[in-house]
Amino acid sequence: KSNRKFHNDDTVIHVGGVQIGGGTMTVMAGPCSVESAAQVTGIAKRVKKAGARLLRGGAYKPRTSPYAFQGLEKEGLEMLREAREATGLPIVSEIISPRHVEMFEMVVDVIQIGARNMQNFDLLKEVGKTQKPILLKRGLSSTIEEWLMSAEYIMSRGNNNVILCERGIRTFETYTRNTLDLSAVAAVKKLSHLPIIVDPSHGTGRREMVEPMAMAAVAAGADGLMIEVHNDPAKALSDGQQSLTPDQFDSVMEKVKKVSELM
Ligand code: PEP
Ligand code: MN
Repeated sequence: KSNRKFHNDDTVIHVGGVQIGGGTMTVMAGPCSVESAAQVTGIAKRVKKAGARLLRGGAYKPRTSPYAFQGLEKEGLEMLREAREATGLPIVSEIISPRHVEMFEMVVDVIQIGARNMQNFDLLKEVGKTQKPILLKRGLSSTIEEWLMSAEYIMSRGNNNVILCERGIRTFETYTRNTLDLSAVAAVKKLSHLPIIVDPSHGTGRREMVEPMAMAAVAAGADGLMIEVHNDPAKALSDGQQSLTPDQFDSVMEKVKKVSELM
């Protein structure tokens, strides 16, 4: 169960020597899409130096348009594995099909369920049969209750290692790509024992808003952050407009650490 009524102590997740939840502030960073081995290893080294503890990178991309870049798939996962070998950072990558569970189980350290698949119940049940930590993003138009029920689909199959990720929701506002619902952090902290992280990159869709929202997320009590970083955002194959350069990421990490020290 995800509810505090049944389990009052905060769930702490351990992955490759890294802790998520339980009073730590853990940052996962990396490109939206894995584009080449050199790209992802290069970014991994930079974000590690800045203080990120996990590397993110999409190999299977759930794109709105079928004509957009769909990811390097299996080869992308292989590149992530190389980046982990080069840096020691555990890797997080999104799964889009129940057919891929075995492969992901073998390769990645944290399996990401994207916003578009938050209610893909078959997928939730399949990853629930593994013991891998699952990063469950909030659906584009999902309530907190629906999101927690999705977490329970995973947990009800025996996998209690669920990390929630607030990534913005659809509202009438169009200035930002999504409306980052930081109140969800406080709500989840009250309702659930599961760790919750915030993704200000997808949450805003705007690079210049990542830093203030990252600081606000930590101030709101988030257990961590997921941030998109690209070596050359203007040429990124996906989500360049919200991706930080490694230098910008350095600055965000400095600010975020200061907020975290106050908590
Ligand atoms: C991503 O993390 O690159 C992604 C596709 O996120 P979301 O599922 O939140 O849109
Ligand atoms: Mn993205």
